[in-house]
Amino acid sequence: MTSNLSALLSTPWPAGVLYRYLTLFGATVDITKSGDYYVPTCTGCDASTLPDTVRKTQDWAQAHSARCRALPHPA
Ligand SMILES: [Zn+2]
Repeated sequence: MTSNLSALLSTPWPAGVLYRYLTLFGATVDITKSGDYYVPTCTGCDASTLPDTVRKTQDWAQAHSARCRALPHPA
């Protein structure tokens, strides 16, 4: 996990990602902006929710990343 974390921290974020949350097993929940709202998407299980304010989107991303057990997609 440590080497995965180092690799993740040294990798540039995808274009448009404004906030990023690490899940239990190394996937991320990435928040992008869509119009006036923000959209979170889990890179492990593809979960998302409706566009919302930045605070509500960050709360969703925090909660999802704390319990998501999906593995990241192979590189
Ligand atoms: Zn997930």
